[in-house]
Amino acid sequence: MKLKQNILLPLVLVSAMTQANENITQQSNQWYKAAQQTLQENIAIKLNTKRAKNVIILVADGNGVGTNYATRIWQGQKNGLLGEEYVLPQEKFPHIALVKTYNTNAQTPDSAGTGTAMHSGVKTKAGMLGVDDSVVRGDCSAVAAGSVDSIAEILAKKGKAIGIISTARLTHATPASVYAHSADRNFEDNTKLPEGCVGQKDIAVQLIEKMASGEVDFAMGGGRRHFLPKDVKDGENKSGRRTDGKNLIEKAQGFGAQYAWDQASFDKLDTSGDKPVLALFESSHMKYEHDRTNEPSLAQMVEKGIKTLSNNKQGYFLHVEAGRVDHASHDGNAHRAMTDGAAFMAAVKKAVELTNSEDTLIIVTADHEHAIAFNGYCGRGTPITGLCMGIDTKGTKHTNTPEKADDGKPYTVLGYLNGSGSVLKEDQNWTGTRPALTQADAIDPDYIQQALIPKSSETHSGEDVAVYASGPWAHLFNGTVEQNYIFHVMLHAATN
Ligand SMILES: [Zn+2]
Repeated sequence: MKLKQNILLPLVLVSAMTQANENITQQSNQWYKAAQQTLQENIAIKLNTKRAKNVIILVADGNGVGTNYATRIWQGQKNGLLGEEYVLPQEKFPHIALVKTYNTNAQTPDSAGTGTAMHSGVKTKAGMLGVDDSVVRGDCSAVAAGSVDSIAEILAKKGKAIGIISTARLTHATPASVYAHSADRNFEDNTKLPEGCVGQKDIAVQLIEKMASGEVDFAMGGGRRHFLPKDVKDGENKSGRRTDGKNLIEKAQGFGAQYAWDQASFDKLDTSGDKPVLALFESSHMKYEHDRTNEPSLAQMVEKGIKTLSNNKQGYFLHVEAGRVDHASHDGNAHRAMTDGAAFMAAVKKAVELTNSEDTLIIVTADHEHAIAFNGYCGRGTPITGLCMGIDTKGTKHTNTPEKADDGKPYTVLGYLNGSGSVLKEDQNWTGTRPALTQADAIDPDYIQQALIPKSSETHSGEDVAVYASGPWAHLFNGTVEQNYIFHVMLHAATN
């Protein structure tokens, strides 16, 4: 890939730049020189107006600008830097916009409404998949009239191969918004459909029917329980949930799909593209990256997906979701949000390495942000999951002495406004004081960040997220856009 093909500047340009700045006192300062380099790179960017053969959209669920900031520092510190200066793979992309994520009926959005916006080009209500906001949530009878076409459905008709990868259940909101039409995101199998539901099938059935018809070629994630009857046990001895007797995994194998459920069967998958691929690595969601055993990483799944789908001469559309960044934040556990965020960044890097920006549009975004917040004033290099350390007035790196709040106790850099880490406790009649906190507590992988408002599950927030893009028509991302605009850029890039 030649993202930064403009890095080697013509000598004339470099000398012109030097001349223009020759009388500026600070021109030999490292920050000044680095910014000059960035300026020249941006001046030299050429817009790519070719048709995109391939479109890849990578969504880290719940990874708004704040969460992305935390992952940047986390990864930078893992790489031995202070952290703040680190550049994540998508931050090297030449084009970016801010995205307004609200649903038509919700200031704070959910992943079904946001996924539908990104993949279908229209905003809708919270909790619904692949339908417009004429539908009332839960009303099966309105689905047929309210259904909207997804980018995957449109591009499949144009001969592109379609892939869906998620670390969440494949029937969960974000991946399901690529292929399903459902009055409720919770209709993952037949047991969740309301009595007398006519007008739609459950989400797992919709996926397998799309694979049978050739509209989805590659589907990889978690969620086996929604594909198996309740009297059938899976490879990890967990029971299915279906009560209609349908074994959808056998059905997929019946029409020729390859099936994988652990690392060994994943490793054996044939990437020739001749047979559809169905992989379900867990009964529910895949494991957090921090806890991962016997199942592939997101980057490994992306590599397998791109290798398989690239066999299609008409190109492909690939949706990739890091679904568990969101779940870790719901748990109030910053460590797992960061480690799953870092695994997402490795997947972005892999997608960049395996493609060419001349013919592949890569979009990196989030569906929404969380109620995450950052305290001050912490010195450079303060461990992002740890206590806020003081600023060294004489040097660069933090003082290694925790800052104290007005209650005399230290506090972490990162917290959530609400969540199970609330300092207010029910057993004290919803009063409380902040517990004392050590650095060892704070950097423990299982530490739940302090929060104010008590909620068993920390909430999303309605803040903007970013969308980063490279490749054909990536420059159509600029300014502040509505989330449903993302679909329109993908469609234009792939079909203009
Ligand atoms: Zn969520």
